Amino acid sequence: MVLLFQFCLIKKLQLTNDKKLFMLENLKIGILGGGQLGAMLVRSAIDFGLDIAILEKDSSAPCARFVNKFTCGDPMDYETVLAFGSGMDIVTIEKEAVNVNALKDLEKSGVKVYPSPDIIGIIQDKYLQKKFLQTNGIPVVPGIPVLNRYDLRNHLNILPGCLKKCTNGYDGKGVMIIRSEADIDQAFDESCVLEELVDIKHEISVIVSRNESGAIECYDPVLMVFNKDRMILDFQICPANLDMDVAMEACNLAIKTAQALNLTGIVAVEMFVATDGKLYVNELAPRPHNSGHHTIEASTTSQFEQQTRLILGLPMGSTKLNKASVMINILEPAAYRKSAMGDALKTILSTTDAHLHWYGKKDGTEGRKMGHVTIVETNIENALSKAVIIRHLLKEGYEEK
Ligand code: ADP
Repeated sequence: MVLLFQFCLIKKLQLTNDKKLFMLENLKIGILGGGQLGAMLVRSAIDFGLDIAILEKDSSAPCARFVNKFTCGDPMDYETVLAFGSGMDIVTIEKEAVNVNALKDLEKSGVKVYPSPDIIGIIQDKYLQKKFLQTNGIPVVPGIPVLNRYDLRNHLNILPGCLKKCTNGYDGKGVMIIRSEADIDQAFDESCVLEELVDIKHEISVIVSRNESGAIECYDPVLMVFNKDRMILDFQICPANLDMDVAMEACNLAIKTAQALNLTGIVAVEMFVATDGKLYVNELAPRPHNSGHHTIEASTTSQFEQQTRLILGLPMGSTKLNKASVMINILEPAAYRKSAMGDALKTILSTTDAHLHWYGKKDGTEGRKMGHVTIVETNIENALSKAVIIRHLLKEGYEEK
């Protein structure tokens, strides 16, 4: 009797779940942006039986290979975003350069937008972002707004400093060090933030996931190593070899950030650990992020699956780290791709537990992210020794040019 009751209960649960999954298949979900992050998000959504639409202005962008519904259009254009989003159930992003006003209007008309347009609006402007974090008691590098190159001369007392374009900067393209008055003639001539120069010991990132009810799961901090000339992520290591108290503080700051944003979804919180031990939040990305690529192979739930789960209101996955990992970005120069890729590919693919992700971008400008390799291992020493060989090969490619 008891057995029969349990059987009926299980059957009922299966039916409920089947129905829910069936309903998921019918959901209309759109992503603004069609780059590699979008492509990895789409691939995890495909595993859930979802059909995703992409809005992207480059018709050969990485997402184009994975979706049937590809709209070629500018995610920054109000009318284009409104037309794309109307009729969708859910709209999300894979980059912040999107039209926030259109997203606000879509939200008013009943479309669910993740992250909220208000959050995207804050993140789009580096100064607004800094003010938001400061107001919420989260430590940031002190900085002031400057109107243009001329205005920099009013703040010579801050130099040397780090000058950042308020909007549209990414992968280090909107960042320059201004050492003295002599550098001002070459400085960005637009609205910027001038920050104090931090003596950085480590750059780290913590990805946090938060559901609609406010439950939070935090991924382990990763150590990010930047190419100093290009200011772009070169490789990253997880777990980061941080003192326990620094790692705990970093996770706490990331959690506090997600709560302050009242976020549903995931946010990458990039931080500096200064040589004096202080932690500063540098930048937020309320979406899947380069610093979470390793979660595909190293974690129970990848950042992409987690984002998919959260925007659909499904149970949050475990963020448990199962393996040590090193992730190496493959950056463009064209010479590297053409001549050295064959040999590098063979070495990468003959290395056990090295996973190649080639984004399939048609053309690349210098420094563009063309792919990445994630090496997973039982311990970080083994992962690093494999990474050294692979990275050396990739570096030879760069130097060939
Ligand atoms: P982006 O949005 O282009 O990634 P970031 O703000 O992350 O720009 O800056 C790029 C890099 O510049 C950082 O990873 C760091 O190496 C360096 N940097 C940024 N701000 C500072 C600072 N205040 N002091 C010293 N270095 C900095």
